[in-house]
Amino acid sequence: MAKTAELKKLEKSLEVISIGLEILRKGIGYYVYYNKPNENKRIFKIHFSNCGQCAWGSGKITNAEPGRNGVWIGPFNGTNQAKVFLNDNLKPLPSQIKICNCCK
Ligand SMILES: [Zn+2]
Repeated sequence: MAKTAELKKLEKSLEVISIGLEILRKGIGYYVYYNKPNENKRIFKIHFSNCGQCAWGSGKITNAEPGRNGVWIGPFNGTNQAKVFLNDNLKPLPSQIKICNCCK
């Protein structure tokens, strides 16, 4: 039996939703925003993926040009993994690493 155009459209929508859910599932974890212009005085705040600030590493500013001022780094499995990455690669002072109040 031939599928109707409406059924094909519905199947395509479900496929897109399924892909989106898989991408979100893979992105669950902790993220840090690295801001190049402020790197010496910046607080590196660790966020969980569903935090409004982080939004799975896409940030809260919807019209921001990706990578212009900085980038989201992650996901990390936990806050300790994020801290190890920061210490190994960006070498902030201990006082520059914080965990977002929404994400504790
Ligand atoms: Zn947060």
